[in-house]
This record gives sequence, C-alpha cells and structure tokens, in this order.
Amino acid sequence: MDVIYTDNNATTKVADEVIQEMMPFFGEFYGNPSSMYTFGDEVGKKITRARQQVADLINADPGEIIFTSCGTESDNAAINAAITAFPEKKHLITSVVEHPAIKNLYSYLADKKGYEVTFVPVDKKGRLDTQALYDAMSENTAIVSLMWANNETGVIFPVEEVAVKAREKGILFHTDAVQATGKIDIDVKKTGVDMLSLSGHKIHAPKGIGVLYVKQGFKFPPFLIGGHQEDGRRGGTENTVSIIGLGKACELARENLELMNTEVRELRDYLESRLLEEIPGTSVNGDRDNRLPNTLSIGFDAVEGESILMLLDRKGICASSGSACTSGSLDPSHVLMAMDVPFKSAHGTIRFSLSHYNTKAEMDIIVETMIPTIDKLRQMSPFWKDGKMV
Ligand SMILES: *Cc1c(COP(=O)(O)O)cnc(C)c1O
Repeated sequence: MDVIYTDNNATTKVADEVIQEMMPFFGEFYGNPSSMYTFGDEVGKKITRARQQVADLINADPGEIIFTSCGTESDNAAINAAITAFPEKKHLITSVVEHPAIKNLYSYLADKKGYEVTFVPVDKKGRLDTQALYDAMSENTAIVSLMWANNETGVIFPVEEVAVKAREKGILFHTDAVQATGKIDIDVKKTGVDMLSLSGHKIHAPKGIGVLYVKQGFKFPPFLIGGHQEDGRRGGTENTVSIIGLGKACELARENLELMNTEVRELRDYLESRLLEEIPGTSVNGDRDNRLPNTLSIGFDAVEGESILMLLDRKGICASSGSACTSGSLDPSHVLMAMDVPFKSAHGTIRFSLSHYNTKAEMDIIVETMIPTIDKLRQMSPFWKDGKMV
C-alpha cells in the first residue's frame, strides 16, 4: 500500500540495508553464537561487530552494551537494577511526561511496593522544572530517570545538567533515550549517565530489540538469570538476527544524523509553517526552540484529533493524535495535560513525526489534505463560529 508515513516516533520502516544485513542469519547462518565450532563463530563475530556499532553511536564501550527485547525492557531493567542495588533507598524521581514504560512502572512501585515517587512537573512549553527536581533529590533517592526527548512533543530535556547534579549527590541517573537516538548527538561519556535505554524499531531496525547501556563500574544486578550471555547480566540465547540488524541501523543512524538535522528539520519546519499560516486557530505544542528535528505536535482548535486521523487515513496519511488512546479514552494525553494545553486545542492535536524517507511533495499533500479536513470538521463543531473558537 502506498502511504505517506509520518508516524516515525511510533515506529519506523526497517531500512533496506538493515534487511539485507539480517537475511543470511534468518537462513543459512542459524548457529548458536555460544557453540564451540566455526559454524556458530560466524554469528558470534557479527554480534561482536553489532555491539561495537551500537557502542559507537552513543560513544560507549562495547562491554557497556546489554541487548534486551525492547525499550520497555531496558527501562524496566534500569529501574529494577537501581532498587536492587540500593534496597534501603525508597524514593524515586522522574518527570510527569515520561513514556508509559517509566511512568506506569513508577506508579506500580508507588502503589504496590511502597516507594515514594516524585513526578517532576513541566511548564506550558513542556520544559522541565529542574529546580523542583533538584529540590526532590535526597539521600533516600535510589534513582533519577529522565527521558532525553519526549515522544509526543519532541521537547529535549537538559540531561547533561541533571546528570551532573545527580552525580554530585551520589544518585544513579538513567535516561530513556529511545526518541533521542539517531535524532540528536548522544555521547554517554560526555553526558555522564549511568544507564541509557534505546530501542531498535524507532531507528529503522526491527521491533523487539533494545539496548540498555550500563556504565562500567556500576555492579549491575542480573535480571534474567540464566546463561552467561551479555556477561551474565541478561541470560538467554541472543536474538541474533535482530542484534545484527540493530548494529547496522546504528551505523546508518550515525551517518544520517546530519541529514536529520538539516533536511528532515527543514521538512518539519516547512510543514509547520504552512499549517500555521494556512489554517487559522492552530498552535504548536512544546518548546519550538529545543525540540527533536523530526517532531511536530500541532493543535487545531475546536476539532477532534481522532476525526482528523480518520480523514487523513482515507488519503493514506499516517500520523498520531494527542489523546490517551492507549487507555481507550479520548482525554488528552498525560503529556499535553501536564503542559496545561487548553482542552479544546489539546483535543485536536496531531503529531507528525518525520524521517529521511519523507519528501517535500508529501508535506504538500498533507497540507492540501489538512486544509479542507479541518474546515469540514469545524463546520460541524459546536466550538467553532465565525472563524474562531467559542
Ligand atoms: C517507543 C518508546 C519506548 C518503548 O520502546 P519499545 O521498544 O516499544 O518497548 C520507550 N520510551 C520512549 C520514549 C519511546 O518512544
């Protein structure tokens, strides 16, 4: 099916180069990398190479890379490692706008395991209240976990600054870099994070493969107890094919980082300015000066995001809304609510998230489709009269 795919923060197309790299390992090379004979060796060598490719993308050492089954597993493993390593510390810090992989885990630890949890607020532009975060840090804090960039708005958090403060106080620091990877420069040595999560399917690798970076020196307690794989930190025979694909995807992400910050950013800005200029009652959510280059969260007054998506879908355009659709409700998402985005524009929020596979012609089609779509929906909306929201 011919689609215009602008939902890359939800998942991405597997790059052709990645598919090519993986194919032989679905078929011919099915050996177990742990076996002693040469046949398994071939796979083992490729995994070693993939580990290096991942490490190179974030400036880590290969020994600091643990392959997991997804970003969610990486996030869970990081938090569980912290509370296992420091059983006496009963306080956890994160932000109000995290992905469910952190947000719901923190709520679970608060509700079922007796942890005291601080969800640090953000302002109207989605910027972190760093002072509130610093004020919450105490000797009882086991870990601070902060997303590097937000999946809905693309707003980038001051990870380096927070990492410095956490280190000063002797508190572990984890960052969910799933959205930041491949879009902005990630350097774990410069930033000084203790743990970092990334996910394959957000960077043109397959679904079901992730990474947890664990800084050397932190005695990481194993969480899948079994074989010696991943240096005894996560047992289980490796997902060889996906690991090899992820390695290639990381290599490509490094090569395409520049493209992301020039051509993709220009496409996003072009789409944004056309929508703002040509459709009245439209506003951008999040800090426009400090966002991922591919992300546009944009609210249209007095219409419903779901209705927009349905009409876009008829033209083969894939995007997301700003509602808490994962929970089956039409309420605005927890991210937009935390930012205090007015209800009537939060309701009509659409997220376009681009990749280097998108073209300017596609942006034009999106705008030409959006103009009559919004117009049509507003004619039926009780909140829209005489060219403005009532
Ligand atoms: C997608 C995403 C995850 C979850 O990754 P999965 O591999 O789908 O489990 C975690 N955090 C953020 C910010 C994400 O965007």
